[in-house]
Amino acid sequence: MSRISVLGLGAMGSRMAARLLQAGHDVTVWNRSPEAAAPLVAQGARQAATPREAATGAAFVLAMLRDDEASRSVWLEGETGALGGMAAGSTALESSTLTPAWVRELGATAMARGVALLEAPVSGSRPQAEAGQLVVLAGGEAGVLARAMPVLGAIGGAVHHAGPLGAGAVLKLVTNALLGIQVAAYAELIPLIERQGMDPGAAVRILSQTSVFAPVAHYLAGSMVAGQFAPQFPVALIEKDFGYLLACDGAAEKLPASAAVRDVFRRAIEAGLGELNMTGAVQLHRRWARGEA
Ligand code: NAP
Repeated sequence: MSRISVLGLGAMGSRMAARLLQAGHDVTVWNRSPEAAAPLVAQGARQAATPREAATGAAFVLAMLRDDEASRSVWLEGETGALGGMAAGSTALESSTLTPAWVRELGATAMARGVALLEAPVSGSRPQAEAGQLVVLAGGEAGVLARAMPVLGAIGGAVHHAGPLGAGAVLKLVTNALLGIQVAAYAELIPLIERQGMDPGAAVRILSQTSVFAPVAHYLAGSMVAGQFAPQFPVALIEKDFGYLLACDGAAEKLPASAAVRDVFRRAIEAGLGELNMTGAVQLHRRWARGEA
């Protein structure tokens, strides 16, 4: 079993670290807010005071952080960055949802220090992370992916090689755009059904029998009809990913549908809905329908 350090113990990272412990790995954890480590320490993890301390002596270092800024600081920051503690020949794994440009830059910086980077962004949310059933969209060299399989196999039900560094980030952002476009569509259309005096639950049951209804729509529309918005993948995170998608192609004009959907999520954040599950965007439309700002 490998010595693995996990950096970032938010909703996803904490569950991925728990899976690695359950698979029998020797796990060290670090989180910016140290109290998040307590449940994992109770399950047998060691806690490090800095990313560098966590990375020292680890064969694999896996990061699951909010965004490019967090990733940059955790891997590279002067005295505490993880990369500075990693031995030549060890492997850096980046699972956060990031821009392809930053992933490539991090890969080049790691390589200059003798460390191989594999990006490993994931599709799936908290339940899939808890069950070890994430879909991993790996980017990097095939040999590095093969080396990392014992780690990725503990967190993922499927591991795909998307291509070189950056390809995993592109596929992850495309996956989230396909998801978010549907969230925005249902957020707009369910209130329309309601305004027409129809029962939205019954309408969704009928829609679900049509060929246009994707499997994920059961969850999206069901959450909106039931008014259940406990965060799994919050509005603020999916808005971040639309921003990254627009940036990765250079010009938002090439992606008008994605730009419009990002705007819906941005307005939801401005309306104070950013911490709700992404499906909470429907509340924005319900407010508009009531004539509220
Ligand atoms: P989260 O619960 O908000 O956790 C974010 C993590 O990043 C926390 O550990 C947080 O530390 C850390 N962090 C944020 N800013 C930081 C900084 N400047 N320096 C150091 N650490 C920082 O988010 P999550 O749901 O676990 O998502 C993590 C990543 O996975 C994101 O890139 C997200 O887009 C992606 N993702 C999420 C889902 C999902 O369904 N939630 C699914 C697939 C992928 P603190 O605890 O100290 O705040």
